[in-house]
Amino acid sequence: MKWRDREQSRNVDDRRASSGRSGGGRGLPSIGTLMFLWPIIKPLLRSKLGLAVVGIGAAAYFFMPSIIGGGSSKPVSTAKDDEKAAFIKTVTADTEKVWGKIFAQAGERYPPATLVLYRGGTRSGCGPARSGMGPFYCPEDRKVYVDLSFFDDLKRKHGAGGDFAEAYVLAHEVGHHIQNLEGTLDKVQRAKMRLSGAEGNQLQVRTELQADCYAGVWAHQAQKQFKILEPGDLEEALTAADSIGDDRLQKQAQGFAIPHTFTHGTSKQRMEWFARGVKSGLMKDCNTFAQ
Ligand SMILES: [Zn+2]
Repeated sequence: MKWRDREQSRNVDDRRASSGRSGGGRGLPSIGTLMFLWPIIKPLLRSKLGLAVVGIGAAAYFFMPSIIGGGSSKPVSTAKDDEKAAFIKTVTADTEKVWGKIFAQAGERYPPATLVLYRGGTRSGCGPARSGMGPFYCPEDRKVYVDLSFFDDLKRKHGAGGDFAEAYVLAHEVGHHIQNLEGTLDKVQRAKMRLSGAEGNQLQVRTELQADCYAGVWAHQAQKQFKILEPGDLEEALTAADSIGDDRLQKQAQGFAIPHTFTHGTSKQRMEWFARGVKSGLMKDCNTFAQ
């Protein structure tokens, strides 16, 4: 996907620094600390032994936190992490432009979802968000939560790497935001209270497949407006849709699949609905509830 040097979303709540583990070393001591310590340091600098003491002291100041932490703490923000964040913000901006236009054509204003980036864990309007949960949308606070480590998993565990696979997953979450704005999530939630577990899951599957279709609509329109696709991109997204179908995930986890417990749809269904959205580019072709 062509994303570098393109506009990034501003609707971002970047919590990577506060949500992840604490950083490795410390930053530079403040001027105040230096001024406070200067009367002690100054005479020491005159002798070799004193210099050694100051050197060891400084080394301890900078490195002790990581030694105490058993060397397990990682820097909060690495270059790779920043690159991933830049990519996610660019895709988010693309979803804002595409949905903004679709809403405007219907005479409405599109209120964008806020993107929350975190590592490790954070609080969401829908309860605690933890690494390993995968990206999700919380209708209560209208925010998409993305744990940066998820995309490593997508590649490692599910064999679905590639930037457009990641873009598809993000566009799917924004699809849930669209469903929230349309009132669909509310309706499904209310209907599920009246239904049995299996029937409720059926409805949940239709909700998920519609979000896949909306992700396809986004891909279609984004390609039309910004020419973002590179060869192999759509295949990457389809592989991702295939690899995170409920049947596939259940088989991976327990060795067999139980259809009535599916809440996301089978791999085949997910691929079909995403492809349908890509082909048509229209929301009206995403009525998974009518089928
Ligand atoms: Zn979903």
